[in-house]
Amino acid sequence: MNAQTSKRTRVTVLGSTGSIGKNTLDVIARHPERFEIHALTASRQVDLLLEQCLRFSPRFAVLLDAELAKLPAERRARGTVVVLHQMGSHGPAYHKRTPKAFKVFQPECTQTSLAACSLEEVRNAYDNTIVYTDHFLARTIDWLRARADRTTPALLYVSDHGESLGENNLYLHGLPYAVAPQTQTRVPWITWLSSDFEGWRGSRIACLQRERERALSHDHLFHSVLGLMGVGTEVYQRELDAYAACASR
Ligand SMILES: [Zn+2]
Repeated sequence: MNAQTSKRTRVTVLGSTGSIGKNTLDVIARHPERFEIHALTASRQVDLLLEQCLRFSPRFAVLLDAELAKLPAERRARGTVVVLHQMGSHGPAYHKRTPKAFKVFQPECTQTSLAACSLEEVRNAYDNTIVYTDHFLARTIDWLRARADRTTPALLYVSDHGESLGENNLYLHGLPYAVAPQTQTRVPWITWLSSDFEGWRGSRIACLQRERERALSHDHLFHSVLGLMGVGTEVYQRELDAYAACASR
């Protein structure tokens, strides 16, 4: 990769053949010096995805439904876990995490040396990443919901760490856990269950809502996924399953 390319913002467009995806690509096409397409994902429109690949040369193009369909049917019938990993709000280059269309907070910090920006600019750049993650999660839920006629979807989202944005002159996320402020160690954990999923697992959203102030940690993630998927294994620890208390089976 040459110096010119590495300076460009890498963008992944989920649902690139949908209307928001197409608009995003139109904006990106007007600024080839600023953006490069890292990955495109689409559900079904093979022809359009192919056309977009020829135009933007992404490193990855994923037809998620096609990939899932390749899994053996008997395994799919037991449930599928799809892991999506995004850069999210990982600092310091917050401004590189959002396509232009999502930069609603202005002015934003465009330096990687955050102390060179005002606190407001740092916060704006960070808040724009939240706008984009919000969009990312909404699109993912749309994708899952569109398959609810043949699957029983659920979504679990969790961040790996938070970020300091200049409070007490602290930035980023690298402090040892024992001394790190809560802004770095307290992260969102978001659950979405389709109504069929609620029926299947007996995990009641109303029950989970009453439980939402309960402290969870990343230690709960593994066991919660096993619990949600109904995987029976001796390594499963029910007390670390965030959903167990609200599941009727
Ligand atoms: Zn991170």
